[in-house]
Amino acid sequence: MTDIEIQSLPAMGDNYIYLLVYHDAVIVVDPGVAAPVQTTLRAQALKLTHILLTHHHADHTAGCHALAGDCEVIGPKDTRVPWATRAVGEGDSFEIADLKYSVLDVPGHTDPHLAFHVEHHLFCGDSLFAGGCGRLFEGSPVQMWNSLLKIRSLDDDTIVYCGHEYTLNNLEFAVSIEPGNSALARRLEQVRQQREAGVATVPFRLGEDKLTNPFLRVDDAELQVALGATDAVTALAELRARKDRW
Ligand code: ZN
Ligand code: FE
Repeated sequence: MTDIEIQSLPAMGDNYIYLLVYHDAVIVVDPGVAAPVQTTLRAQALKLTHILLTHHHADHTAGCHALAGDCEVIGPKDTRVPWATRAVGEGDSFEIADLKYSVLDVPGHTDPHLAFHVEHHLFCGDSLFAGGCGRLFEGSPVQMWNSLLKIRSLDDDTIVYCGHEYTLNNLEFAVSIEPGNSALARRLEQVRQQREAGVATVPFRLGEDKLTNPFLRVDDAELQVALGATDAVTALAELRARKDRW
């Protein structure tokens, strides 16, 4: 297995930009701003080779113009992502320096919205967050549920790199919905301590999220009762609506 070095670059308050370095590849994922990427590249004497974009929002793309130069920019088939030199979608795959990246389309927050899966790493933008999911700006609850099911089908040991540090707020909301979920209560306590110490809670292990993120568990009968729903899609719609108001 190739050892990918993955650095998280915090930006704009709660965004994460990711820098992947291995072999002769230097890849940035979702550069919402150029400066922290440029500073890191300069400090480590690296030259960018690829940019990966999950979705069109400015906080994931605005650094693209300044960074792109002659590197390959891989993003969704979306006219709002004009920087992409290569547009990809569901089921596509591509190779960078001998590693295979699989593309999942995970719409709901935006449509399209990509996730990139390489080895046991998943870069999922604003589709899944630790303990939560993205707001439904362009998609329906059924689209988001199908996207979350796609992600949930991945191995528990998948490491998830999402677009924002929203974990504490997400878990506080989750506990208000599921006060009896002990795995969730434990995770909230741990995340509280991490945040007090200024430690990032992202990336995170998918297996832990499967047990504690209510958005990944809306097919759970007890959770549906708590949400006054009898099916997963209605439960997801209600859960998202409550989180939007929270
Ligand atoms: Zn977004
Ligand atoms: Fe975002």
